[in-house]
Amino acid sequence: MATFDIPTEQWAQVVEKTGGPSVYKKIPVQKPGPDEVLINVKYSGVCHTDLHAMMGDWPLDTKMPFVGGHEGAGVVVAKGELVKDIELGDHAGIKWLNGSCLACSFCMQADEPLCPHALLSGYTVDGSFQEYAIAKAAHVAHIPKGVELDAVAPVLCAGITVYKGLKESGARPGQWVAIVGAGGGLGSMALQYARAMGLNTIAIDGGEEKAASCKNLGASAYVDFMTTKDLVAEVKAATPEGLGPHAVILLAVQEKPFQQATEYVRSRGTVICIGLPAKAYLKAPVFDTVVRMITIKGSYVGNRQDTQEALDFFARGVVNVPFKTVGLSELGSVFDMMKDGKIVGRYVVDTSK
Ligand SMILES: [Zn+2]
Ligand SMILES: [Zn+2]
Repeated sequence: MATFDIPTEQWAQVVEKTGGPSVYKKIPVQKPGPDEVLINVKYSGVCHTDLHAMMGDWPLDTKMPFVGGHEGAGVVVAKGELVKDIELGDHAGIKWLNGSCLACSFCMQADEPLCPHALLSGYTVDGSFQEYAIAKAAHVAHIPKGVELDAVAPVLCAGITVYKGLKESGARPGQWVAIVGAGGGLGSMALQYARAMGLNTIAIDGGEEKAASCKNLGASAYVDFMTTKDLVAEVKAATPEGLGPHAVILLAVQEKPFQQATEYVRSRGTVICIGLPAKAYLKAPVFDTVVRMITIKGSYVGNRQDTQEALDFFARGVVNVPFKTVGLSELGSVFDMMKDGKIVGRYVVDTSK
């Protein structure tokens, strides 16, 4: 078995008060508990949730101070005595769900994201914006050797989330799915997972640049919400017989697309909500929802099996995530770009810099 020299101190990004900033400083390296592993995080993706956590935007308190990050990919360097299915030297990923009780009625049926005792990486427990991070062994993602740790990092939150949403939609190969916000980071992954699952996609977003990238990623149609005269009619017209898509995946962070989706989804179709516009509400006409038998549901990250499936698609090379790498010390500048809405693609931090 491999052995590793583990330092007592490490570099980390620490949020010391709500509203930030995140401070690059040295902190002690933790020791794993009996059911935990210590992962030498090599790369961590930066997700919008990390910014929300720092700013205190959500109605759920973070630990304080805390280390953010929940898309960490690295190497297992230590483990507790109860951990049997992971060896030192294995590649593993830290995801949003750091751990759960495994005993409640949600955990028992593989709905562990709903566990009332869930531990959330970079939120209620320290996350992956540090060189060495702790996770519950039962919940870490098993990353196959040969998969690049920088490229896979964004799959650990964004990839799992959109893949799970597509599964929850119930859409079958050959059917049509509209992806709202298809030109963004989550959207570009959703388009690729959908294609790999044999689905036809209608990409909905704004602008020529996004049109080109969505077409590149295999979208059958592109509807530009900024220029269309009638979005609902245009989405329906893009599907066979003009009946609308079998499912809609809502990745948008504005409220309006959430109201429109029930108008163009096919009868018997399913609307999946994933994006989290601040203070938004769903509003759908009861009459149409009943007589057209529409299902509206939420989808939230994924369970351990969803995680392994999402990673498997990635390992097979059918999903490709464009990313830029910066040092962990430069995390603050990534947050600044996020605040200004200037992020194109995904940012990954290298914890060694
Ligand atoms: Zn995330
Ligand atoms: Zn539980």
